[in-house]
Amino acid sequence: MDATNTQPTAEPDAPACPQCGYLLIGLNALARCPECGQPLAADLSQYRPSRTATPWSRGHQPLQFFQGLARSMLHPVRTADLCRGPAQVTAGGALIFAMVCTCAIIVLWPLIKEAGIQIAGGIAGDPKMIFADRFGVFQRAAVRWVVWKINCGWEAWSILHLWLLFVVLALVFHRRRSDDHGGLLRRLMLFSPWIAILEVGYLVGVSFAVPNVVPEPSTIFAMWPESLTDVWTDKVWLIRAIIPTFIVSLIFARAVLGWRPWLAVLFAAILAPVAMFLTMLWSLLFMHSGVLDLLYR
Ligand SMILES: [Zn+2]
Repeated sequence: MDATNTQPTAEPDAPACPQCGYLLIGLNALARCPECGQPLAADLSQYRPSRTATPWSRGHQPLQFFQGLARSMLHPVRTADLCRGPAQVTAGGALIFAMVCTCAIIVLWPLIKEAGIQIAGGIAGDPKMIFADRFGVFQRAAVRWVVWKINCGWEAWSILHLWLLFVVLALVFHRRRSDDHGGLLRRLMLFSPWIAILEVGYLVGVSFAVPNVVPEPSTIFAMWPESLTDVWTDKVWLIRAIIPTFIVSLIFARAVLGWRPWLAVLFAAILAPVAMFLTMLWSLLFMHSGVLDLLYR
């Protein structure tokens, strides 16, 4: 049997190349992967899925979640590459990771916003924004149900549009490579911290653009309908949205779509103004589609 041309899949724990996932079956000690050229150790058994566990392949303990979070934030492209081996990133592990990231940002939003206001007030030196009793501010934010309802409701609404945007972009721009759509979706799930970071980026941007303003209910700075035509010339929106959208779009193109750097830069440059417009439209819909009224009820 010619093991370099056929890829038998009978053995579930067969050693696989850590770079490209090529099954290293029927091969003795190799200096490099025959498929991608990745240098390999002499003992191929260490490339068995059972021995190359990741935070997304083992049980779901809190410590592993934070390890996974750190890895996907520090090395988004390398993290996404793990999805080539299904044993290294299981569908369940990736889904739980994405759900925890998304739910955490929604639940913590009132506190993130409160912390942002305090920091921005401190930088701006605006005494009206810096409350003497800082702990009391957090305590009030923590115990007031209406504060949670409106802020968490806003964030759930807001992050939904980013998920919809990136799912659609992933399905439209995905080019079939060595992996299937399952691999694409797992890479998208591992990208979820960056979707949360983009939400925080829009909030932080408000403090840079207008430091002495309290964002209510969160990050809406738009008027219906004139803001839709002004969005690309509005100073506040350009400051708060263009840089975070560009960075996160770039990482999306590199990690989830697996594109080359120059193509990813081009993609991010085109997507940033489009995403900024969609974010403003979605913010206006929050106020004008009845969602806000529903939360105040
Ligand atoms: Zn390889």
